[in-house]
Amino acid sequence: MTARDRAPVATAAPAPADLASVEHLYVHVPFCANKCPYCDFNSHAGRDREIGAYVDALLAEAAARATGLSPRTIFVGGGTPTHPDAATLDRMLAGILARLDLARLEEVTVEANPGTFTPEKIRALTRNRVDRVSLGVQSFDDRRLKVLGRIHDSKDAVRSVAMLRDGGVARISLDLILATPGQTLGEQQRDVARAIALEPEHVSTYVLTFEEGTAYTKMLREGRLPRPSDDRDLAHLDAACAQLADAGYRRYEVSNHARPGAESRHNLGYWRNAQWLGLGAGAHSHVAGRRWKNHDDPAAYAAAVARDGAAEAWSETPDAASGVLESLMMGLRLVTEGVDLDVLSARHGLDVRALHGDAIARHVASGHLVLDGARLRCTPAGLRVLNTLLVAFVP
Ligand code: SF4
Repeated sequence: MTARDRAPVATAAPAPADLASVEHLYVHVPFCANKCPYCDFNSHAGRDREIGAYVDALLAEAAARATGLSPRTIFVGGGTPTHPDAATLDRMLAGILARLDLARLEEVTVEANPGTFTPEKIRALTRNRVDRVSLGVQSFDDRRLKVLGRIHDSKDAVRSVAMLRDGGVARISLDLILATPGQTLGEQQRDVARAIALEPEHVSTYVLTFEEGTAYTKMLREGRLPRPSDDRDLAHLDAACAQLADAGYRRYEVSNHARPGAESRHNLGYWRNAQWLGLGAGAHSHVAGRRWKNHDDPAAYAAAVARDGAAEAWSETPDAASGVLESLMMGLRLVTEGVDLDVLSARHGLDVRALHGDAIARHVASGHLVLDGARLRCTPAGLRVLNTLLVAFVP
C-alpha cells in the first residue's frame, strides 16, 4: 500500500538534510539517432531541435534540486547521452558538476552507442570526470545489428572501444542482447567471444524482451517474428553466463558480469535500494522515503521545469511493508550478495522474517533460496525463475 494515488504531487525540492543521505545521481538524456524496434525506454528520435532547451531545463532542475548534493556515483543514461554534439555534452556535464560537491565522487558513467563518438565528445566526457562508459554494442554480427535496427556495425563497435581506451576512459562496459529472433547459440557464442576479446571490465547481458508498444511486439503479434520461449531464453542466458565465467567475469547480478572490483557502483546502489536523485525526463528519484517520477515527454518536462522548477508527474511515500518488498525484489537480483534480513528489518522497522517467513521457508525448501544466517539469496535454480519466485512475497 502506498500513498501514490492519494497524495498531491509534491514539487518542493528535497531538504538539504535529506540530500545528505543521497549517494547516487541519475541524469536522463532522452534523444537517439533512431528508435530501435525493441526499445521501450524513454527515448526519442527526430527531436534533435529540442536538445538545447532540454539541456537548459536539466541544468535548471539541477540548480533547483541538486545544489550541494555530494554523490558517490553519477550515471548519465538514455536515450543516447553521446548523441548531442560535443559542445552540448560538455555544457551539460560541466553545468551539472558545477552544482555538486565532488568530494566523495567515485564513479561517473555515461551510456553511449557505437557510431555516436568523436574524439571531441570523448574529451568532453573525460574533462568532466567520466571514467566509465557503458557501450550499447548489442551484437558483433552485422546481420543481427540490422535485425535489431541499430545504426552501427561491428567495426563501429570495435573502433569505439579503441577510441574510448585511447581517450583515457578507465572502465568500459559492453551491453549484449541475448536470444534475439533467429539467433542460434553458436552465433551468440561468437558475439560473447568477440566482446571478451575486447577486454572490457564489465559486460551486461540482457535477454530480449517484448515490451508493450514496441515495433517488435507488433511484429510478434502479426506473426512476423518467431515466438520467444522461456526454455530458449534460459539456454541462451546460461550459455552466456558460463562463457563469461570461464573468461574471469563474475556474475554479480542477474544480467551483469564484472572483473573483480569493476562492478557498477551506481547500479549496486539501485539493487541495494539506496537513495538516489534523478534529473531529466522520466527520471525516478528515491529520497528520504519518498519516490517520484518526472514527466516522460522531454518537451513537457522542459515546460514544467521552466514553470515550476520541477517536473514531478507523480510522487508516493511507500509504507514499511512496501519498502521491504522493494528491497527484496531488488536485492535478490544480487547473485552472491542477496539481502541481509536483519539489515532490512532495522532499516524498515519491521520484522522481515515474521512478514515473509512462509514465502522464505517455502522457497528454501524447494531449493530456490538459501538462508545463510541472516543473508537470503537465490540459488542458481532460483535465479532462473526469479520473477515467479518474487510473486510469493507480494501480499
Ligand atoms: S539506442 Fe538505446 S535508447 Fe535509443 S532507441 Fe535504441 S535501444 Fe532505445
